[in-house]
Amino acid sequence: MSKEKPVKVKFYSGENIPLELHKVRVVQKLNLVPIERRLEALYEGGFNTFRLSTKDVFLDMLTDSGTNAMSDMQVSAMMHADDAYAGSQSFFRLQKAVEDVLKKKYFLPVHQGRAAENILACAYIKKKGDLIPMNYHFTTALAHITQYGGRIVELLYDEAYNIDSAHPFKGNLNVEKLEQVIVETGVENIPFIRMEASTNLIGGQPFSIRNMREVRKIADKYGLRIVLDASLLGENAYLILQREPEFADSSMAEVISIMTGLSDIVYFSARKLSSSRGGGICTGELKIYRELEALVPLFEGFLTYGGISVREIEAMAVGLYETLDETMISQSPQFIAYLVNSLTAKGVPMVTPPGVLGAHVDAMSICSHIPQTQYPAGALAAAFFLISGVRGMERGSISNQRDEEGNETYADMELLRLAVPRRVFTLSQIKYVEDRLVWLNENRSLIGGLKFVYEPPVLRFFMGGLEPVSDWPERLIAKFKEDFGDSL
Ligand SMILES: *Cc1c(COP(=O)(O)O)cnc(C)c1O
Repeated sequence: MSKEKPVKVKFYSGENIPLELHKVRVVQKLNLVPIERRLEALYEGGFNTFRLSTKDVFLDMLTDSGTNAMSDMQVSAMMHADDAYAGSQSFFRLQKAVEDVLKKKYFLPVHQGRAAENILACAYIKKKGDLIPMNYHFTTALAHITQYGGRIVELLYDEAYNIDSAHPFKGNLNVEKLEQVIVETGVENIPFIRMEASTNLIGGQPFSIRNMREVRKIADKYGLRIVLDASLLGENAYLILQREPEFADSSMAEVISIMTGLSDIVYFSARKLSSSRGGGICTGELKIYRELEALVPLFEGFLTYGGISVREIEAMAVGLYETLDETMISQSPQFIAYLVNSLTAKGVPMVTPPGVLGAHVDAMSICSHIPQTQYPAGALAAAFFLISGVRGMERGSISNQRDEEGNETYADMELLRLAVPRRVFTLSQIKYVEDRLVWLNENRSLIGGLKFVYEPPVLRFFMGGLEPVSDWPERLIAKFKEDFGDSL
């Protein structure tokens, strides 16, 4: 397959500026409300950015989930959806897209990524204590595995925990440790090995094909299956093209098919993979399909819609083909690299190398005066919203779950994630984020900690309520007014 060249543009000035290779045709007005209103909104939302209302949010960098811009082709495809409970033509178009792009013949639709995790955990975790080795957990994957009595073990190389690194593949699964874990645990207690593309919680960091081939070898040696979480597959493939010399001249299609070819089961959230809604599980083996098939009507809906509207199914199909377009996929990683590099140059501690889905700020370093018991990443997320109207997401100890005895488990990293969904923001908005974050870093001593006032037992980061441990937000506002006057 010959590679279709992605569009690359150089600036005469020599500046490294990512150029938008799309135009804006449908727009949404944004609100930038006064800082006093933003403080009220924080109190109303329990200092938890998930609980803010978008009427108070200026730039919504909470997540890339379901927020990537849709293409004109996706929106137009939604108009010819075939509404039917069973046997819809929309489903068959999606099934063909899955086979063309992910190279798997058997496909089960589900309403979003975590529904696939529920089905896989339900089907394969057979007894309490079953262990799933993985490069790193994702919140919803871990919640479903533990819900069915399973456990996980995270097998990254040490470099992955090094925030400020130049390692190109921090998402690599530690193969030496993997083999050790398999031998110690026994294959009968390991339902599958999970690999997550663009490992989300450590900063959207990819693994290499070389690593995946080694994992495959071990899986084959012990007769284990590999389950690939492909929610961020396109971005991982893009970074392989950029960073793994063997694939410098390969196409997105080639790299994606190698990655899925090394997996027995591939699942994904279409909210990320194809900028639509929905999700799916696919496999090349009829036996695996049969093991999972009955659970789709049980949890999701009939096999030809899986809880997804037919319009979204059409958008998903088109979005899957668009994932093969390197120019399109590169837009978000390039904006992220621009933001990470300019912030690093201005002394703001960031996760490096720049990953995908968002820029990740090292809250443990900025808020080194806040103990982990007072949630530095949550505090930074709240403080940044307060002074900018930009909504990021805490990815630290609040996003962790308590252990079986109810003890806090502190996160390896305390990160503020600023998601940069595809083709949504302009460069001046990115510059605003940079400007305000530089200011906040210079005034970091004014940020204080948080404590829980309402802590739900499962996935507490979504709906949990917190409050500041002191009047630090008011003091931060006073300094903001001093420096910015009546500017919003
Ligand atoms: C978002 C995400 C999921 C869950 O997908 P949802 O559609 O939000 O349920 C699973 N894995 C990874 C890596 C993700 O980023």
